[in-house]
Amino acid sequence: MYRKLTATRIFNGYQYLPEGSALLVDENGRIVDVLPETEAGNEVEFFEGTLSPGFINCHCHLELSHLKGKIEKNTGLIDFLGKIMVERNATDLEISTAIASAESEMLQNGILAVGDICNNVNTITQKTKQHLFYHNFIEVAGFPEEMANPRFEKILEVYHQFKTHFSKSSIVPHAPYSVSTALLQKIVDFEDNNLISIHNQETIEETILYQQKSGGFADFYSRFNISMDSFEPKGKSSLQDILPQFKINQPLILVHNVFTEEADVQYAKSFYGDLISNLYFCLCPNANLYISNRLPNVEMLFNNNCNFVIGTDSLASNDQLCIYNEINVLKKHFPFIPMENLLQWATINGARALQVDDIYGSFEKGKTPGVLLLGEGVMRIV
Ligand SMILES: [Zn+2]
Repeated sequence: MYRKLTATRIFNGYQYLPEGSALLVDENGRIVDVLPETEAGNEVEFFEGTLSPGFINCHCHLELSHLKGKIEKNTGLIDFLGKIMVERNATDLEISTAIASAESEMLQNGILAVGDICNNVNTITQKTKQHLFYHNFIEVAGFPEEMANPRFEKILEVYHQFKTHFSKSSIVPHAPYSVSTALLQKIVDFEDNNLISIHNQETIEETILYQQKSGGFADFYSRFNISMDSFEPKGKSSLQDILPQFKINQPLILVHNVFTEEADVQYAKSFYGDLISNLYFCLCPNANLYISNRLPNVEMLFNNNCNFVIGTDSLASNDQLCIYNEINVLKKHFPFIPMENLLQWATINGARALQVDDIYGSFEKGKTPGVLLLGEGVMRIV
């Protein structure tokens, strides 16, 4: 039994299809054909709005879902991180209930695949229900060099627990301001790491730390007696400092990029060369507005043809987990970006970034990408 679907417009993951196109979908949600409506026979269902493949959320922290509404807005990143440390403890029931409800919110909002940051095993039980596809980014931090070995050994245990259930897991660094060269080296060299993600240039304090070894993070580390002895600033931006430690054939998702400058992008382009498609810039505009009321220079990134994907970040820094909402916020602040591009970032680009474009991200024969109806809101129809 096939369903035949058409709408005011169909976006196929790459572009809008010619008017009068239709989708043939089988009972398992598999795309059987994309063809002119006139060739689809009768019983074609018409929808008012845009049909789109399901959304890909490239950056989330499902395990922080119980922090929804707990952290005040516009505190800046350093205070935000301090509050996360204080507030993240809760009962197992509070944590697991919040995880389940955040996941069902994502499903409801048309998200099919998620790149999810994990510092612990709290999300495993929910994820084994396989309601959504997850790439688990098992995250490690530790700024003093002497912490590299113990922290890596500890995170390996978490990683192995994920790996028993899910093949798609990797070990990733938290941020340039929170990993040492030694720890980053261990992560990059870890044999199973085919995909890495890192929080990048989320705050100007990261730049100040890397250029002058001072500012908010230096204060933060001295307040908590965390040694900075092993860190030597080279006067470069954090991105230009750390990027040479990565391998150009190892796909990397840079998350946030609020303080990324054109010189950083130029540097990244020359570092990756022909393999620049391995570098993704993940935008999480609602989280940036929540934490610091500031957005990345999307115009500059766009003019430099950066490979964009979109994330929601966690409910600690967002009122909802909804990629369509992120798209609409980007559209509002950067109206020059065509909707076609924004949808591409949320679908095929995200699927490529998470290495699931054989299943998700576009209406192509054989894929099961989900079918969303976009209008005022988002509704999943397949
Ligand atoms: Zn994050």
